[in-house]
Amino acid sequence: SGTTVAFIGLGRMGGPMAARLVAAGHRVVGHDLVPELLDAAAGRGVEPAASAVAAVAGADAVVTMLPTGRHVLALYRDGGLLAAARPGTLFLDCSTIDVADARTAHEAARDAGHRALDTPVSGGVAGAEAGTLTFMAGGDAEDFARAEPLLSAMGARAVHCGAAGAGQAAKICNNMILGISMIAVSEAFVLGESLGLSHQALYDVASTSSGQCWALTANCPVPGPVPASPANRDYRPGFSAPLMAKDLRLAADAARAGGVASELGLRAAQLYAEFAGSEGAEQDFSGIVRTVRQRSAP
Ligand code: NAD
Repeated sequence: SGTTVAFIGLGRMGGPMAARLVAAGHRVVGHDLVPELLDAAAGRGVEPAASAVAAVAGADAVVTMLPTGRHVLALYRDGGLLAAARPGTLFLDCSTIDVADARTAHEAARDAGHRALDTPVSGGVAGAEAGTLTFMAGGDAEDFARAEPLLSAMGARAVHCGAAGAGQAAKICNNMILGISMIAVSEAFVLGESLGLSHQALYDVASTSSGQCWALTANCPVPGPVPASPANRDYRPGFSAPLMAKDLRLAADAARAGGVASELGLRAAQLYAEFAGSEGAEQDFSGIVRTVRQRSAP
């Protein structure tokens, strides 16, 4: 405790994360462009600031939880955040952004005399509320050590993945596995349906065989076998399809840029972009099983 943290971006994730920092005894000065979100955060012990620049003055660390890399870079540079912070301030960007943007953000922070880590998270809004997020960090070990009290206030686990951008790299690689495996599990259930195999029978076999994976056993895309999965509540998220589409697009962009032959990753990005842009706009990403079923000839 005793640390003053500026928290910029008090949305679905940032709001509860800032509240966890307050609960851990830190002074948190926050800002969001949406006045209602700033009021809600103030109700949870965050000191509201009139602007992002005002929030960082006097802060020891700056946490950003913003939609995209464009938002982060705009705020760091044109928005004057780096210029307004005290020299040596620790910048933690928890947003999920492009690896290249994360490296650019690091460089800009270092050039301005600060320290920086990319620290994207997994665990969703429920994990943010409960303080059970997993952080994946990229940057120097000494900065990771300095960030540890803040990360442990907001999450259950933090993995130092390597140099600048490594946190974002781990995040998009993990979510590429998840996106592809959810499509695989969904196709297997629909194939089972066409072969007259019950959902429960396929689940009982695959969940204890080599088809076992998180998409099957934690977020099962058909109702029944896993009572807590979004399929049992009409695919209310959970992890929304638009966020999966975003993460797969970041992975696909990185694969193209690196010349990686990620055929399923690119296809998964396409399928999720279509799903998120239509019936999946407000659904859990496991709702893609319905698209597989709809596209299948009877
Ligand atoms: P969100 O849209 O709810 O929150 C983002 C907030 O940033 C908004 O409230 C917005 O008003 C604010 N904002 C944008 N520009 C700003 C600026 N210049 N100054 C101040 N505030 C500004 O999004 P979210 O769901 O909280 O996600 C944030 C990030 O976390 C995204 O990169 C997302 O991909 C990632 N993420 C989300 C989840 C999830 O389950 N929601 C899980 C893991 C990672």
